[in-house]
Amino acid sequence: MGLKLFNTLSRSVQEFEPLDPDGKKVGMYCCGPTVYDFAHIGNWRTFVFADLVRRYLEFKGHAVMHVMNITDIEDKIIKGVRESKTPLREFTGKYEAAFLEDLKTLNCREPHQKPRATEHIPEIIALIEKLIQRGVAYKAADGSVYFSIEKYRGCGCNYGQLLKLNFDEMRAGERVKSDEYAKESIADFALWKARVPEDGDIFWPSPFGEGRPGWHIECSAMSMKILGASFDLHLGGEDLIFPHHEDEIAQSEGATGKPFVKYWLHGAHLLVEGKKMSKSLGNFFTLRDLLAKGFTGREIRFLLLSAHYRETFNFTLEGLIGAKTALTRIDECVGKLREIGVQVSIGSSQETFKPELQPHGQFSSALDADLCISAAWAVVFDWIREMNKRIAENYLTAQDAAIALMSWDKIDSVLGIGAKSAAEVPAEILALAEARSAAKKAKDFKRADAIRDELKAKSWVIEDTPKGSKLKKI
Ligand code: AMP
Ligand code: ZN
Repeated sequence: MGLKLFNTLSRSVQEFEPLDPDGKKVGMYCCGPTVYDFAHIGNWRTFVFADLVRRYLEFKGHAVMHVMNITDIEDKIIKGVRESKTPLREFTGKYEAAFLEDLKTLNCREPHQKPRATEHIPEIIALIEKLIQRGVAYKAADGSVYFSIEKYRGCGCNYGQLLKLNFDEMRAGERVKSDEYAKESIADFALWKARVPEDGDIFWPSPFGEGRPGWHIECSAMSMKILGASFDLHLGGEDLIFPHHEDEIAQSEGATGKPFVKYWLHGAHLLVEGKKMSKSLGNFFTLRDLLAKGFTGREIRFLLLSAHYRETFNFTLEGLIGAKTALTRIDECVGKLREIGVQVSIGSSQETFKPELQPHGQFSSALDADLCISAAWAVVFDWIREMNKRIAENYLTAQDAAIALMSWDKIDSVLGIGAKSAAEVPAEILALAEARSAAKKAKDFKRADAIRDELKAKSWVIEDTPKGSKLKKI
């Protein structure tokens, strides 16, 4: 069965057919972080969703080129630079590095390209020049360059592809210079912002005068440079539909005359304990805040992947505790399968397909239906129940366990939650476990027991198995 996705452009669920005539290559762009602070858990919902899309396309055999921009020039960044008295690159570099670290903590596959806006000023300028030549952009008295929605529509182009707009109610002629998308109204928007004193030394020379690019044009210039004038998928959170993505379409199609993106995918927002996240409400969490509370990247990823991407997700700390329990169930089952199936190698000539052991086909059918993750999880947990039953009743052969594991590995190439990384065991705990092994080896059982008690006090148990000892969090 083919993958179907909800396309914001058509407002319907559509069969996914890449532009590549061979149906293999897929160009995918996801609006990346604005690096002025640590990314919060709402941002992470969107990036984990993008990772799910990427992983699932790869599971289905596509060769994905995943691009995610780094917005490293923008109003909030300039404010941060000014207030912290730090050079631009140093200021954004700190948050960019943190973002990439967090991306790893959540086991997201790294985008193939991560273009920075500040490194694409010539491409941005060239795109603005093209829009001026085509008569849909103009330099205003304030020295900034704006995109003219009226002229664009006058050429027969459609402004309002992602969101139906009522032009009669619009405030004609008002221009918007702010990058704060929430505050932008329907009006001409800035492509190039003339230098103002508050910008300090953050400006670039251009044919239109000194200044800096607007936020929307950055994404048009960088996505088209890497993926071409037309590409398959563009993703982001739902707040970006308007005006950011609508403006990206206008700028790109206004310059090339070609359809910009075939499928637009938008992830719904995340709330915390039922409310919009805000620092004043005390419900604002960065990934780091949650790690400091003792949760792991895996648990957070699991929770973020538990709801359908088009549903508003209510994030709670209780949900994270539930994620821990669910992951333990998966770990215990997969751990037992590995013990039983150890040393059995399954060749590609494996004859019989056993659906009750190999759920990846069913899992895939669930995701084909617009990434219906709840149905996909149901397949996983039904399979775990079945495996546990067989293990308990002692009728799962080593061969069957190995077959089941191969299927699980395929599923986990999409979910990315299976592997418990060593990094999740704190260094201090690992050191204690090693000290205990050394004590046992030296037949100092008193010391070994004392270390075991110390580990227990820190919520870790050591299980001695024929294959060595295993650490487990209580
Ligand atoms: P920003 O760094 O503000 O440009 O946002 C990065 C990404 O996070 C964008 O795709 C936003 O749409 C998304 N985003 C922002 N807030 C939330 C939220 N509360 N829930 C889900 N996604 C969000
Ligand atoms: Zn963007």
